[in-house]
Amino acid sequence: MAKKQFKAESKRLLEMMINSIYTQREIFLRELISNASDAIDKIYYKALTDDNLTFNKEDYYVKITADKANRTLTITDTGIGMTKEDLENNLGVIAKSGSLAFKSENEAKDGHNIIGQFGVGFYSAFMVADVVTVTSRALGSDEAFKWESEGADGYTITPAEKDAVGTEIVLKIKENTEDDQYDEYLEEYRLRAIIKKYSDFIRYPIKMDVKTQRPKADAENEFEEVQEEQTINSMVPIWRKNKSELTDADYENFYNEKRYGFDKPLKHIHVKADGAVVYNAILFIPENTPFDYYTKEYEKGLELYSNGVLIMDKCGDLLPDYFSFVKGMVDSEDLSLNISREMLQHDRQLTLIAKNIKSKVKSALQGMMKDERENYEKFFASFGRGLKFGVYNDYGMNKEDLQDLLLFTSSKEKKLVSLDEYVSRMPEDQKYIYYASGDSIDRIEKLPQTEMVLDKGYEILYFTDDVDEFAIKMLMKYKEKEFKSVSSGDLGLDSEADKQENEAEDNDNKELFEAMGSLLAGKVKSVKASKRLKSHPVCLSTEGDVSIEMEKILKAMPNGQDIQADKVLEINTNHEVFQSLKTLQADQDKLKLYTNLLYNQALLIEGLPIADPVEFTNDICKIMV
Ligand code: ADP
Repeated sequence: MAKKQFKAESKRLLEMMINSIYTQREIFLRELISNASDAIDKIYYKALTDDNLTFNKEDYYVKITADKANRTLTITDTGIGMTKEDLENNLGVIAKSGSLAFKSENEAKDGHNIIGQFGVGFYSAFMVADVVTVTSRALGSDEAFKWESEGADGYTITPAEKDAVGTEIVLKIKENTEDDQYDEYLEEYRLRAIIKKYSDFIRYPIKMDVKTQRPKADAENEFEEVQEEQTINSMVPIWRKNKSELTDADYENFYNEKRYGFDKPLKHIHVKADGAVVYNAILFIPENTPFDYYTKEYEKGLELYSNGVLIMDKCGDLLPDYFSFVKGMVDSEDLSLNISREMLQHDRQLTLIAKNIKSKVKSALQGMMKDERENYEKFFASFGRGLKFGVYNDYGMNKEDLQDLLLFTSSKEKKLVSLDEYVSRMPEDQKYIYYASGDSIDRIEKLPQTEMVLDKGYEILYFTDDVDEFAIKMLMKYKEKEFKSVSSGDLGLDSEADKQENEAEDNDNKELFEAMGSLLAGKVKSVKASKRLKSHPVCLSTEGDVSIEMEKILKAMPNGQDIQADKVLEINTNHEVFQSLKTLQADQDKLKLYTNLLYNQALLIEGLPIADPVEFTNDICKIMV
């Protein structure tokens, strides 16, 4: 019979995985057991809600059988089984959602990483087996089918015999090679250890025939070896256990077993609530950003159990958008089993649980910021952007909840600071929280506008994320201190006397500035003497709500809004260039040349494009000859 080919991307992935030196081969068993357990969940749930199905708890189990002579390892489950189409659709394709297309070639070379991203659980069997045979009979069907594959070159599906509903997976374990030992996956002690390590909390018995010594019935002090079926896992779900019984490693295992992520979580939160609402939850704060986190494809949510039975994979209503990164599960006895998605939204219990979870996560993050700063900074590097969007979204409705979780790079030591840390170390005479925006820290540091503020000994927050300034505009103030951009018209640094002096200076040079202003009509609102510049001849500042960075971001958006910042060209009157400007008033051509040059320089400093670069270079040539 002709072999069917795996879908193209599956084939590539499979080859990569088989050939990758995956250090923890043993996880194949966790993956297969976890699939089996999911399949039992499905049938168990059906039985609970379908009156026509009767069930006995004892009927649901996973059985592991090793046969050394034939080098086979068999994983049998009494789950929901698969139809012919299921076998085709589930086992013929990896990365079903086409998520593979997301990955760059480079990343795809690393098979390990791929396993992590997609949880291609079933295929991990090929790390230890030459041939994988899946025989399955689906619930409600009286025929069974056999799927068989020797790896990357394809698979066959043929009719088969199977008495009971469920799935049997037979792995033909590879022969040992010089470098790799596979025999261990046929050893009872080894299999037992792997099951204990990864699958201890699986809710159904994982059974294995084990050899034990038993006292002989007819002779005293003599033992005989017998084979008996034992349940290897302890079965109590981790969330029902006492926190004191559990170690960090237990939580980490649970996180991996559940495929919440393949990183190591930065923190776990174990909630046992028995107040107004009764529930258990285990929540995780991951370390790495899922590859699709900042796309529409990413789906937030927690697993929702009703009294130990899974009722929903991803209950989005349990998490606010800005905490979308949280992984984990909630188990509540108060929820009805056959609750629908629509009903859930209006469920009072669920709303209470969600509220509770939100505050647990918030205080866990605050605790981390305080006591585990390094971890918090890792977290913030992965998910901070989402928090800032949270401040900005919904008209700032959640800003109070989120403002204390924000971090920004500060001019002081280039370290991350929270707003609270910034405000609490402000000198007494400082009125505002200063910030500067730009593409990178390096670029911001070179902005002439920062000189004066830094000179005063004030700290500046560096905004390098698109969303930063928008979020801050939404906050407006933190602890009664207003935010101020170093590029804004009035920096609030001048005393009354300074102000008068500035005005006088602007007056003295009124004619020159007006002449320059009209040469730049439509480009800047006005030209002024600058008080913020020390060594640079010019810079741009802005008046009004839209800053230059915001203008850039709005322009770059797909629906490209052409919103302009009200720009002011500031001239450093202490600079030599200004002295030569003053001599030019009679020479209109030269004044125009210099004005354009200065304006274009200011644009360059801001990282804004010059309207006519050819003219600009020609202008430079003019002053060179
Ligand atoms: P994942 O479990 O991450 O979806 P897998 O490649 O491990 O990916 O499995 C693909 C699909 O095959 C599963 O989602 C499930 O629908 C089906 N499947 C795998 N193993 C079993 C099983 N033992 N019983 C029933 N269905 C299974």
